[in-house]
Amino acid sequence: MLKTESRSRSVLSERLQTLMADVLAGNAPNAGRFCGYCYHPVGQETDLCPHCGRSTAEWAPVNRIPEAVFAMFLAQRSREGWVVRLIAYGGLLAGIVLSLLPIAFADVRWWTVLSLFVILGLSYVVAANLANTLGDAVGYRWGQAVLRRRWEEFVAARERPEKP
Ligand SMILES: [Zn+2]
Repeated sequence: MLKTESRSRSVLSERLQTLMADVLAGNAPNAGRFCGYCYHPVGQETDLCPHCGRSTAEWAPVNRIPEAVFAMFLAQRSREGWVVRLIAYGGLLAGIVLSLLPIAFADVRWWTVLSLFVILGLSYVVAANLANTLGDAVGYRWGQAVLRRRWEEFVAARERPEKP
């Protein structure tokens, strides 16, 4: 619930992100009618962007998404993936170390071997769950922070389209 709420506040709209993922995968062309401010896909008849609320009269629509927007989208995605993988592998590594402790301190016995497999199994489940919950949440925040910073730089450097 919280996730959906905070996700909708992203500078790049959900639809734009889906479209960019499709374009990057080669499943859609980078063409259409996009808000001149935030690049949310807008219909031919639309004169008010539903994502950022800016009018097409003030921000002339463009017919393709700029490369810089793809670059910041990729940077955001890679940060998200990074955190999830870091937590998944970090959790597994911690589990491996933990599972070896009983053998290290009490030698190889039936119960230290058993605990090795139990701890390994548990840490796998815990690491996967942590990656999907904590990793996803932290990764999302970090990705959004990176995206916002790059977006602000982009907007500051961008030429505002001439008013007709
Ligand atoms: Zn817009």
